[in-house]
Amino acid sequence: MLTNKKIKFCPECGSPNIQWELPQTWSKWKCLECNYIGAFIIEDGEIAVQIRKDYIKRYLIEQKESDAEQPI
Ligand SMILES: [Zn+2]
Repeated sequence: MLTNKKIKFCPECGSPNIQWELPQTWSKWKCLECNYIGAFIIEDGEIAVQIRKDYIKRYLIEQKESDAEQPI
């Protein structure tokens, strides 16, 4: 596990795959994984790991549910 404190994480999915949006009003971040946009980001890697776990769990449940409804 990386402990680089400069890494920022998405508060929705815990992904470090975020980029800074152009600050037209205030600085905002955009997550490239879940499309979260906002000024709030996580800078604590341990919290991000927890968010990531929850997100993946939710994601897998959603996948199962959508598979049951309409199999691709
Ligand atoms: Zn995200």
